[in-house]
Amino acid sequence: MSNTPATEAPRRRTFAIISHPDAGKTTLTEHLLLAGGSIRAAGQVRARGENRRTRSDWMKIEKERGISVSSSVMTFEHDGKVFNLLDTPGHEDFSEDTYRTLTAADAAIMVLDAAKGIEPQTLKLFEVCRLRDIPIITFINKMDREAEDSLALLDEVASKLQLDPSPLYWPAGSGNRFRGMLELKTGLFYPFTRRESGSEYDQGHEAPAPLDQAVTKGWLDQGELDELRDTAELLEGGFKAFEVESFLEGHMTPVIFGSALRHYGVNQLLQAIGDFAPAPKTVAASKAGTDTAVDPTDKEVTGFVFKVQANMDPNHRDRIAMLKLTSGKFQRGMKLKVQNTGKQLSVNAPIMFFASDRELAEDAFGGDVIGIPNHGVLRVGDSLSESGTVRFQGLPNFAPEILQRVRVKDPLKAKHLKKALESLAEEGVTQLFRPSIGSDFIVGAVGQLQFEVMADRLANEYGLDVIFEPSPYAEARWLGGDAAKIEDFAGKHRSAMGTDIDEFPVFLGKSAWEIGYVAERYPDVKFLRTKERG
Ligand code: GDP
Repeated sequence: MSNTPATEAPRRRTFAIISHPDAGKTTLTEHLLLAGGSIRAAGQVRARGENRRTRSDWMKIEKERGISVSSSVMTFEHDGKVFNLLDTPGHEDFSEDTYRTLTAADAAIMVLDAAKGIEPQTLKLFEVCRLRDIPIITFINKMDREAEDSLALLDEVASKLQLDPSPLYWPAGSGNRFRGMLELKTGLFYPFTRRESGSEYDQGHEAPAPLDQAVTKGWLDQGELDELRDTAELLEGGFKAFEVESFLEGHMTPVIFGSALRHYGVNQLLQAIGDFAPAPKTVAASKAGTDTAVDPTDKEVTGFVFKVQANMDPNHRDRIAMLKLTSGKFQRGMKLKVQNTGKQLSVNAPIMFFASDRELAEDAFGGDVIGIPNHGVLRVGDSLSESGTVRFQGLPNFAPEILQRVRVKDPLKAKHLKKALESLAEEGVTQLFRPSIGSDFIVGAVGQLQFEVMADRLANEYGLDVIFEPSPYAEARWLGGDAAKIEDFAGKHRSAMGTDIDEFPVFLGKSAWEIGYVAERYPDVKFLRTKERG
């Protein structure tokens, strides 16, 4: 079989769903898999979450290895395309984890609850997408419930996100009066077939027909038809027609309405992802120190680690590094080198994330994600390639917003604590700082929830009962600039100096004001809010 990077990479669509909790991300994920034909019944994605070890049929490895990786990526094939759906954590704290996952996505689906519009978390995640020029498709969900006025919703997208919404469809009604939607380009009406609540829906609603047949077919009454026609005319003047270029540049978002729960609008969404979402792009990189660009059709296998999942099995301390491939044809058993350490890995047991129970794939291409089991060799932000000389721009660490001192209740376990904290920091769950003086561990996070997750994991995976205490420091900044200048500065501020997990020098300030103050006095030293490793 001649599947080559040139034929395979362009078929890939790698995307993530961004939404505020409860907007319907999980439900939509499930129904996309259903639409893609890779699961047969609703309820499986949720079941997988609740009851992973027994229900998921495709993660035989999961059982064998006692790990759970299923929710990170779901790959399914549909209509000649390979879809990789990346899971983003669903909680409210903006986390670096989410940010990093989005660095691996080539497009995003923004799910809005039709009754709520743009909510705080939607906005935050949107901003991350904008920062990385990720094109966005908008899915307005829960049309089977009383919704806000659709025009008002699109106005909100335009004003809050500075993004041109371009409706591909227009809904007729919402809630109990939701009848379906009109495809603006073709004039076809897609009826919404309501079923008894609680009854098993099948995958189909009735097939679409031209709008002027909607009354005879009993889908709309004359009043509804007239109203829909009037609005459709209005839309032509009110919104720009959809342009793929503008979408890909991040200026425009196509809009689809639907109900994930009722499996309505989901096929249309999948179609839009297949048609418009970009195939993996050429990525800027350096090779042996020289600037270059890596194209997905290039022969050399390259990729970067955007996430590490560790300790799914506390007995094995296994870690799965999630590698987004950027080029080449990856094959099981292949040797890849880590750029910054030069270490070589034989990737004999890569995990591929097919959502169906088909056999695991033997190869993967640009756009795909593979999981590489390892014992701490791979870190978030690592670049891997056959030659070992390709380096992608690192994934940034952000200066934490909360710093706390952590202690273990049983003093005999201090050594264990060090190891555990280092391991969680390597995984990117939290950041770890060691002040130059004393034996404290200072843990930094972007949100409070990360501390809870951390305490939980320290207890469950490492058997460590920890206490977080207020830290004497409020802000951390990485130091950059001339090495001699940094050393001079560090010498004079020993009590406020520390190092991070990579032994980078860090200034630990008591307040933002203090940082501003020292920064002014030491103009040759940079006080950095982000750090790129590599
Ligand atoms: P997530 O937090 O974004 O993953 O949201 P979920 O998928 O868990 O959905 C939150 C709630 O909204 C659940 O009770 C779903 O059943 C419900 N829900 C999701 N989509 C729809 C929809 O299209 N219509 C209705 N009526 N409810 C929905």
